[in-house]
Amino acid sequence: MIPEFDHPTYRLAVAQFDQAAEAMNLAPNLRERLKSPQRSLVVGLPIRMDDGQVRVFQGYRVQHDSARGPSKGGLRYHQAVNLGEVAALAMWMTWKTALAGLPYGGAKGGITVNPNTLSNTELERLTRRYAAEIFPLIGPDKDIPATDIGTTPQVMAWLMDTYSQQVGFSVPGAVTGKPLAIGGSLGREEATGQGVVYVTLEALRKKGLALEDTTVVIQGFGNVGSHTAKIFSEAGARVIGVSDVTGGIVNPKGLPIADIVQRHRHGVSFQDMNVGDFLTNDELLTLECTVLIPAAISEQITVHNAERLRCRILSEAANGPTTLDADAILQDRGVFIIPDILANAGGVIVSYFEWVQDVQRFFWKEDDIRERLHEIITAAFHRTLGFAEEKKTTMRIAALMSGIDQVAQAHTARGLYP
Ligand code: NAD
Repeated sequence: MIPEFDHPTYRLAVAQFDQAAEAMNLAPNLRERLKSPQRSLVVGLPIRMDDGQVRVFQGYRVQHDSARGPSKGGLRYHQAVNLGEVAALAMWMTWKTALAGLPYGGAKGGITVNPNTLSNTELERLTRRYAAEIFPLIGPDKDIPATDIGTTPQVMAWLMDTYSQQVGFSVPGAVTGKPLAIGGSLGREEATGQGVVYVTLEALRKKGLALEDTTVVIQGFGNVGSHTAKIFSEAGARVIGVSDVTGGIVNPKGLPIADIVQRHRHGVSFQDMNVGDFLTNDELLTLECTVLIPAAISEQITVHNAERLRCRILSEAANGPTTLDADAILQDRGVFIIPDILANAGGVIVSYFEWVQDVQRFFWKEDDIRERLHEIITAAFHRTLGFAEEKKTTMRIAALMSGIDQVAQAHTARGLYP
């Protein structure tokens, strides 16, 4: 492994890739090419803070592969962001877009910052400076950023505006996850959660479990976690536990999700809501439930808690929530795992719709978006399931093999330049 990328999340992504490459007998030359990113940029971002001082933040953009089209991937603002983590997330984006059949490669970006410690004006200056520094790499035909942990539609609007200022005209297709007013798509905000629910419903059906008897526990209550909770509870499942970075709440009778979403948005802590018992994230992950949905950060399910998980289905809304050792334990215990690159693909699928609408200047109705998302993600689920059964392997390996195979075919067809 190239030492610059060494990081637990990158090691996890590469170990998963090695497992799948081995299982599919991938040619050694392709293995070598796909293991490390195509292009990585590290930028220093000097920002004038509101008190007049200048602070320098570190930013990254990694393009893992672009054999199948422009690269696509979110932008993360989090204090733990570094080059290795961004590279791992970029690699997963390559397999995810290929698995869903989208004409993209994989990328990811990030800034090492806790956005909650910045004022709105500092956040805007940081975002605009980042956009200017990575400008040579991005664009609607090159690499298209989107939201991820710590970034919002407003951040995407600043990115789009800065990009547009550099070229001299409006380029809505330069980013996705934007506000509707500047070419965002209906259904994008809830797309990842909607996709998580669609594939989990297919898994419940496969396991012969009825939705009205289903209990759901969700770790993380940001964009993905809160929408997943809302859509699941509206569909008739009982959401019994939710959490954020400060801890969570449980109520075996079911939580009033619509009310919780409102109050959480207004900054009320779970502890102050008086709708259930407060518990730690570790306690939440080991609650007895039908479906457990990690929707926060990576490496949350490890050897330390995998034996204690009490779910029938693990639906990975977060990227890389399960370590390799924990994965093996859960497989042995018969937990049905919907791997991240499939479970959370709804976000990039609707981002693709947003980009297509921007490029064509022709906007779709919300029903069309939901229907097409459903069609693409459930087809990907059934393709993966069929492949896993045929090859007698896990859903994760089957999903990775399908994605890697598409990318390998593109490389073989294009050949090696020069
Ligand atoms: P977000 O910033 O909106 O929310 C993150 C949530 O996780 C917050 O509730 C936060 O409090 C919680 N959290 C952070 N650290 C935690 C910890 N140590 N323990 C428990 N909870 C913690 O981010 P998001 O966009 O909802 O993304 C969540 C996950 O989903 C990430 O892994 C992201 O990569 C993945 N994902 C997001 C999208 C998308 O469209 N936003 C698409 C695909 C995958």
